[in-house]
Amino acid sequence: MTAKTSKNLRTSGSVAMDDYLEQILLLIEDKGYARPVDVSKNLGISQASVTNMLQKLDTEGLVVHKKYQSTILTEKGHTIANAIVMRHQMLTKFLRLFKLDEETIYRDVEGMEHHVSKDTLNVITSLISELEEDPELLERVKARI
Ligand code: ZN
Repeated sequence: MTAKTSKNLRTSGSVAMDDYLEQILLLIEDKGYARPVDVSKNLGISQASVTNMLQKLDTEGLVVHKKYQSTILTEKGHTIANAIVMRHQMLTKFLRLFKLDEETIYRDVEGMEHHVSKDTLNVITSLISELEEDPELLERVKARI
């Protein structure tokens, strides 16, 4: 892999790690703290697996995980989590323009958010602006679907 192509590739270790970081940030934004038990509940993963992953993320310098304490994102972890949450929001906004059902949107976005490059996200962001500013264009696109 050359340096040129790597810039658009995933920033963290794995899809699973991304999902944890995303969930931790959402919990912190929602409640002010992220408890491993809530991460476990929201991701539908056993507490033992969550503990393992949090230890791994701690080793990688992405979170601070201490027993019986809420999980904290490091600056590096926060940057990655923030990028995923932003991709999630942008992709959701895009698909909602076309009135797809929420379940489909959520499922597709959860898959795409891990893989979409910065360049493609820029394309989608521009399309959102164009379609929002031009309702007739949006209607024409929707009529084709
Ligand atoms: Zn997501």
